Amino acid sequence: MPKKRRNQGRNKNNRGHVKVIVCSNCGRRCPKDKAVKRFTIKDIVDASSKKDLEEQRAFDQYVVPKLYIKMQYCISCAIHSRIVKVRSVEDRRIRAPPQRVKRDAAGRPVEKKEE
Ligand SMILES: [Zn+2]
Repeated sequence: MPKKRRNQGRNKNNRGHVKVIVCSNCGRRCPKDKAVKRFTIKDIVDASSKKDLEEQRAFDQYVVPKLYIKMQYCISCAIHSRIVKVRSVEDRRIRAPPQRVKRDAAGRPVEKKEE
């Protein structure tokens, strides 16, 4: 039978079984090697509240803590929330890792200098 991907969308190299994880979005069970994992770092308070806090704080050096969350999505949620995209038959043959976006301290993408 023809198959869509040679690894069936998984990273289960010669393992018989992989533990399941629970999707962060919908609660569906999904094998860990198949799940789409993203480590998100975001501020505990939103940008407008952060400005208010900075004006009212008693200590000058106080930094508002951040949330460090590992998100694990099932394939349906990853596609639906556009974390990953469906690729055409030809594009699926490209095995190079996607281009990484470099970000500065503020989290804005840094443009790469042409050499
Ligand atoms: Zn899900």
